[in-house]
Amino acid sequence: MMFKPYPWHEPLWQQLLARIRGGTLPHALLFTGGNGIGKRDFAIQLGQLLLCETYQADPAAHTIPCGHCQACALNKAATHPDFKMVEPESAGKIISVDQIRELAAYLGLKSHYGLGQVAIIHPAEKMNKFAANSLLKTLEEPTADSLIILVTSQPSALLPTIRSRCQQVVFQQPAEDDALPWLRENWLRDNAARRDDADIRAMLHLANGGPLEALSYLHNNSRTLVEALLKSFINLTLGHADPVTVAKAWAETDVGSLSKWLILWTCYMIRLKYDAQQPDIYSVGEHSLKKLATAVDLVALFRFLDKLTETRRLLDSQANTQLLLEDLLISWLQLSSNRSKQ
Ligand SMILES: [Zn+2]
Repeated sequence: MMFKPYPWHEPLWQQLLARIRGGTLPHALLFTGGNGIGKRDFAIQLGQLLLCETYQADPAAHTIPCGHCQACALNKAATHPDFKMVEPESAGKIISVDQIRELAAYLGLKSHYGLGQVAIIHPAEKMNKFAANSLLKTLEEPTADSLIILVTSQPSALLPTIRSRCQQVVFQQPAEDDALPWLRENWLRDNAARRDDADIRAMLHLANGGPLEALSYLHNNSRTLVEALLKSFINLTLGHADPVTVAKAWAETDVGSLSKWLILWTCYMIRLKYDAQQPDIYSVGEHSLKKLATAVDLVALFRFLDKLTETRRLLDSQANTQLLLEDLLISWLQLSSNRSKQ
């Protein structure tokens, strides 16, 4: 795939170009920022640019990979011998020590085309302890002309020693004015019949402002699922549903997204405590988080947020999903019903 930087990445792209031209790009970069904003695509494109023959022949004349030289053709086919992606073998899995050892061996080889080597580790927080320790050695002894880019939305989950050996590049959340037009254009291109602007906005909110994530929600018709989850969460809080039944239904869904959405909803209710004028963005018919927030106190919301963060970590470690969700929901019921006693 060959792409231009997303509109919200233009300034950052120009900054990195300037650093390449100035010869100040380090051997290891750490890309951090929210989910679904295109950090991985940016890393790939940067790697493709560095390997592009047209660009390297005259760096001052080009700002993106040319798309037609031999290197670009190999990159399009994902077969460039000097470009390596290190990712979990399937979604949600870890990056293993064997994968990092393989990376070290690859970096120990000479660049095939003489323009250096690029490796991208994504999502970097999925490296387990052994993989991370193994990577440390590679970062301590960089080979000439190699660039390693670690991509993560959870930099705090990385070893501090890894963070300190990389130069961090922080990706800001795109402004809604940049994200919405892009999202509309890309969604309506193939779905012109579904011109529901409210849906597009709702998915962008749900993706916490990440346009790529919002686009995948639109493609997966996530709104139906989200509305069902939101309804059951509100019903549970109001005592119209029991935690075991709700946890059982939730365990059958995409729990990775579910835990993200619960965090988002809780943060929204916390924000409402400080600024009650916020628009009612998470509601289904009668069921509204804004209404619900008035019945739960701030301390309970903060405690639930801690519990959610912990649950999310445990869900990643693939413990019993339904039990974890039951425990989470029971805690929520205790916290949200305790307001009169505090
Ligand atoms: Zn090229």
